[in-house]
Parts: sequence; C-alpha cells; structure tokens
Amino acid sequence: MTVKENVQNILRNLPENVILEAAAKGRPAESIQEAIGAGISIIGENYIQEAEGHYKLIGHCVHWHFIGHLQKNKVKKAVALFDMIETIDSVELAREIDSRCKEINKVMPVLIEINSGREVQKHGVFPENAVSLVTEISGLSHLRVAGLMTMGPVVADSTQLRACFIETRNLFENIKKLHLSSIRMEYLSMGMSDSYRMAIDEGANLIRIGRKIFA
Ligand SMILES: *Cc1c(COP(=O)(O)O)cnc(C)c1O
Repeated sequence: MTVKENVQNILRNLPENVILEAAAKGRPAESIQEAIGAGISIIGENYIQEAEGHYKLIGHCVHWHFIGHLQKNKVKKAVALFDMIETIDSVELAREIDSRCKEINKVMPVLIEINSGREVQKHGVFPENAVSLVTEISGLSHLRVAGLMTMGPVVADSTQLRACFIETRNLFENIKKLHLSSIRMEYLSMGMSDSYRMAIDEGANLIRIGRKIFA
C-alpha cells in the first residue's frame, strides 16, 4: 500500500469531527508530501531539527504540531515554527513558551500532556495534577490551552489502555466545566496506529498516526 492509499483508507472511515494528524518522525519529506497530497492537513513532529528540515521543504501549506518532549533550550525555535505544542507538562515549560511567544508577538495554542498510565519514567502530568497546572498557566497571555493529549502506556492490554483514554476524556470534560476564561477545551488528542479506533470510541477528536500511514 502506498502512503496515499493508507491516508485515504484511514480518512474514509473517520467520523466527521475527528482530525487525522500524521506523525512524521523519521520519515522523508517526500513521504510527508505524499500524505499531504492525500488529504493530511496536520503534521506532528517529535524533534525540532527534523521538523526544521521538513518545514524548509514543505512550508506552511499544513499545520505543524509539536508532539515530542520539548526541552527549555529548544523553545525559541519551537515557537517560531509550530502552530501548536501538544506536550505541555509543567508550569516552567509553559512560562518559557509564553515569554518566547511574547517576543515574536504570537499566541501559541497548547495541549496539556496527560501521563494517563501514571508511568514515572514518562513525560506528562499525572491526571490528578492537571487541573492545578491548567489553572496556573491559564493566566499566561501568549499561550492558550486548547485541550489535552495523552499517549497511554505502551505495554498495556487494551482494557488498561481504554481506562487511560476514559480517564483523560473525563478530565477533559471536567476542565471544560471549570469555565476558565482564557482556555478553550477543543482538542482531545489520543490514539495512534494500534489504538485510534478505541480512542475515537472514547472521545478523541485528534488522532496521531505514524506507522499506519508511512510504514
Ligand atoms: C510516533 C508517535 C505517534 C504515532 O505512533 P504510531 O504507532 O507510529 O502510529 C503518535 N504520537 C506520538 C507522540 C508519537 O511520538
């Protein structure tokens, strides 16, 4: 199957409200371009340097989302390039993004990354700490919380993974109900190649697919 066929097959079976993001780590620009030609409008990138290379060749005909772990010393480059950062998990990172965006007069939509499997070695904020993080950063003027993102545990059986998706969805709804003035809970980013159907069942409206598109 070609990249084009893969994208078309996934798109054909998606509910109307669900957006397909192509996770492009390790892929050549030609493959990404093929995916764009087949209807992809959001590219997810894990690494700044790789993203810069892709962006140079492809440009701004799509939206670029950062989905990797963002180090503080890379924030300046990240805010210049990306349209959304999906992996906020600390006040410090949010503050750095806010101040770098201020310099270039940009307001950055961000998602809070939830460590829904509560894995100590993983990035993301534990579910029980998400409300206080959102509340604390909701006052920053050059960053706008737009939803939640989660990966879920890798080795989980599907029951465990579903429970993680459900908990993240509930958190999403609960934060929405807080009606914090400067945030808009719009995107629930969860589900990858092996799990996106389950994620959609549990409320995801942004799915991040790599292997099923490019492999
Ligand atoms: C690689 C990656 C994906 C896509 O994973 P696949 O299993 O290849 O579909 C999604 N989200 C993040 C954060 C990733 O790093």
